[in-house]
Amino acid sequence: MQSPQIFSFHGGIHPPENKVQSLQLPLGKPSLPKELVLPLGQHIGQASRPLVEVGAHVKKGQAIAINNGFLSSFLHAPTSGTIQAIESRPVAHPSGLSDICIILTPDNADEWTELEPLNDWQSVSKTDVLAFLAEKGIIGMGGAGFPTHVKLQGAHKHPLTHFIINAAECEPYITADDMLIREKTLELILGIEILQHLVEADNVVIGIEDNKPTAIAALQQIIRERQSSIQVAVVPTKYPSGGEKQLIKLLTDKEVPSGQYPADIGILCQNVGTCVSVYEAIQFGRPLISRFTTLTGDALKAPQNVEVLLGTPINHLLDYADIEDKKLSRLVMGGPMMGFTLDSANVPVVKTTNCVLAATKKELPPPNPEQACIRCGMCEQACPASLLPQQLLWFSKSQEHEKAEHYNLFDCIECGACSYVCPSSIPLVQYYRHTKAEIRDAREAAVKSDIAKQRFEARKARHEAEAAEKEAKRLARQGAAKPAAKKPAKPAPEKATAAAAPVADDAAKKAKVDLAITKAKLKKLEKALLEAQEKEHTEEISALQLQVDAVKKDIADLEAKVAAAPAPAASKPAAPALSDEAKKAKVDVALASTKLKKAQKQLAEDPDNQELKDKVAGFTADLKAAEEKFDKLGGNTKAAPAATAKPALSDEAKKAKVDVALASTKLKKAQKQLAEDPDNAEIKAKVEGFEKDLKEAEARFAKLDSAPAAAPAAKPAMSDEYKKAKVDVALASTKLKKVQKQLTEDPDNAELKAKAADFEKSLKEAEARLAGLDTAPAAQATPAAKPAMSDEYKKAKVDVALASTKLKKLQKQLAEDEQNSELQGKVVEFEKNLKDAEARLAALEAPTAAPVANSAPADNAAPAVDEDALRKLKIDAAIAKAAVKKAEKALAKAVELGSDDQDSLEQQVSKAKARAEELEQALQNGGQVANKPAEANSNGSGDAEFKERLKKQKVAAALAKAQVNKLKRQLDADPSAESLQQELSAAEQKQQEEEAKLEQLTNTQENR
Ligand code: SF4
Ligand code: SF4
Repeated sequence: MQSPQIFSFHGGIHPPENKVQSLQLPLGKPSLPKELVLPLGQHIGQASRPLVEVGAHVKKGQAIAINNGFLSSFLHAPTSGTIQAIESRPVAHPSGLSDICIILTPDNADEWTELEPLNDWQSVSKTDVLAFLAEKGIIGMGGAGFPTHVKLQGAHKHPLTHFIINAAECEPYITADDMLIREKTLELILGIEILQHLVEADNVVIGIEDNKPTAIAALQQIIRERQSSIQVAVVPTKYPSGGEKQLIKLLTDKEVPSGQYPADIGILCQNVGTCVSVYEAIQFGRPLISRFTTLTGDALKAPQNVEVLLGTPINHLLDYADIEDKKLSRLVMGGPMMGFTLDSANVPVVKTTNCVLAATKKELPPPNPEQACIRCGMCEQACPASLLPQQLLWFSKSQEHEKAEHYNLFDCIECGACSYVCPSSIPLVQYYRHTKAEIRDAREAAVKSDIAKQRFEARKARHEAEAAEKEAKRLARQGAAKPAAKKPAKPAPEKATAAAAPVADDAAKKAKVDLAITKAKLKKLEKALLEAQEKEHTEEISALQLQVDAVKKDIADLEAKVAAAPAPAASKPAAPALSDEAKKAKVDVALASTKLKKAQKQLAEDPDNQELKDKVAGFTADLKAAEEKFDKLGGNTKAAPAATAKPALSDEAKKAKVDVALASTKLKKAQKQLAEDPDNAEIKAKVEGFEKDLKEAEARFAKLDSAPAAAPAAKPAMSDEYKKAKVDVALASTKLKKVQKQLTEDPDNAELKAKAADFEKSLKEAEARLAGLDTAPAAQATPAAKPAMSDEYKKAKVDVALASTKLKKLQKQLAEDEQNSELQGKVVEFEKNLKDAEARLAALEAPTAAPVANSAPADNAAPAVDEDALRKLKIDAAIAKAAVKKAEKALAKAVELGSDDQDSLEQQVSKAKARAEELEQALQNGGQVANKPAEANSNGSGDAEFKERLKKQKVAAALAKAQVNKLKRQLDADPSAESLQQELSAAEQKQQEEEAKLEQLTNTQENR
């Protein structure tokens, strides 16, 4: 067979070989040490993860640590024994630092675990073979410790033109590969054939220096015997021909470009030791637990190559090679050119330990003092990487990292050739190593800073988006709270647009959600990419980069979709754009409209009333002026005619509205969770469910909102009547009991006897009435309107108080932060709310009075009475009646609880009744005594104080109620929050207390 062509590489040196010493003795096999120290980080990637616990017994070949990442590797027990510890121990590293190690105490039985070879490797998939090799802990044994299966995967990146087996072993003193080839020639060739099959290489060349004639002969013989196509390329001895890039240049004349890998130009290199390990793993199922190592140096009496178990302490090997401590000057792990000095011999052999050099002072003399560079250029001539070492030295010393990188510092293979030839004894490689470490640290810091910056920007963007969303919602709510312009008078084409809007909204929402999810995905991928870059996981980097590019493209598409989606608020555009002044004008329109409507209603009942006619005319003019002002300020009274005041929501509609809010909150929460974990099927299902709930709730609310307000009048009236009857029973019973008690103390008292008889009678009557109501159908009770109206009136009053409190609070906040536009907007909003509530209260005054007036056909006297005073009287009468009911209710409760307040409450009931009767009488007299209550109210300075107290109590009760509602909403959104449940219980308790206080004060007020 024709020998392959040999080329040359730039530079290189010819130091003394010193290989003969370690080849004098045959391969040695040291005994088992007392303990094996197995570092978890014997490879280039993340340290392995232990699979065993301290105290566990393991068999030879059993996996004791699993790979922990892309470039990590498995670790196996080199012999049988007990795990003595998993702890930090000194390891063989230039830094001299310790690392976590598994300490194995051999049991000397050397009992193998059951090994499973991969006999059918030719028929199983290549992926499975690679996974098998990964599980056997096979890594490159030439130096860097790159996991073999990862390197083989990368071989498919480009069509493979050359598969090179590195047998050069160019470094002085080291003969481990030479010995391995001699001892395991067939295994090596078989291992190469397996790898050849895996990487589908046609052109396989073993590169070996011409100083290994025995090994070359052995190889050629086996290849001949097997009629293999593998070629043996014998290269001239020159350091560092065993460098990967240098050997490639020697055998192919190709140069691996700066910053690239051999796989990028279709070449794969493997070390001979790796090939043998692959063979032993596939053929026998044997994991990587030992290796060939050269023990050499003049300090050893018996230098030789040994097949040594991983984890064997160096001092055990030195003893085996009969070290002469007195002669030992320097202990080096590796060769004299690229090895590093060991501080201690108490470190273990690892998968990449190819040599231990116990050198005397004569062999490795202390370096001469460093001199200044004389710019002789010898270093440049020696550099096999064609670098400019003196320039790199200059940049390293001046810490000009960018320039050092620009001069390809990272192409330096740290071969030491430059240092070797330097007449100024400059330790050039030390400088380069130091600078490289500094640059790596800076890169790491930059990556970390980038990640932190990205996180910060993402957080900021998220907050801004949330704030914008809140603001948009607030404005939308504000718009929705305006009189319902949408439904009544819309022309047909607008209706069609309105019908299409939800569909467009849905599409836009979906695009937004997809965009958020995809952005979250991108964030994750970018994080993984940064990590991979940080750890220089080359294969992972390219795969992740592809994914990042694809996701970025998706994001661009989605952003285009979102931008193209029609504006969701097309049907209600004006609200968000309104200025504060315009908002105020809009409120004025609404108020004028309300007043006009009220006056029109009154006029309808009394068409000849000139005063009302004037009022209507005045309010019409006011409304027109307000509308004109609003239109001028950019509003659109036609699009949002304020005159159609929105009716108060029914209870069912309110409930539906709450359901919408709840479903929306839940959906948002789930969408947020989904954005953080886009592949979570459970959350996806939740999102879909909540979307459905929201749609249903929205539909329900839309239906109820548009439906005319139902008139749930009969039931509350019936209920009140029933309650009254119950109170009468309770009262009569209490009175009777009391008299009976008194009678037991004074049995001959005739007056008491008469009273008891009366009360018995009253009780029976009340019980009979209650029994009748108990069985009466609800619809029978027709006189129901008044009490219902009174409740609504009270509610309106509370709304006014609540709106007023909120407004005051906001005004206070605004006074402290005048520039806060959000607060400014809120103040305007609450001003409007207060006005609305006041208008509602005012609107209720007339209908409340109307039935009373109807029931008292004394309207003929009206012209003689002041209209406002009469109206006030009517209101007072209605309030007095309500006060009677309240007092009776309070009394009933006191009776039920057996409270001591029964007497005072009875008095209150009597007083309230008297007051109600008095007012009723006054009304029947046409308001002739209408000034009486006013006088009463204005009497005494205590009144103002009392009113203030009452007002405060109303606010306290309303706030307590609002807090309960708020907590209920929060609890609905997160039902598992125990703290919320506790808070809710406390808030409900507080609400009860505040309402009880308010009730008491209201009763007192009504009795006053
Ligand atoms: S060999 Fe040494 S002295 Fe000569 S140029 Fe290089 S660094 Fe300078
Ligand atoms: S150590 Fe670096 S700079 Fe020096 S000769 Fe080797 S490759 Fe060149």
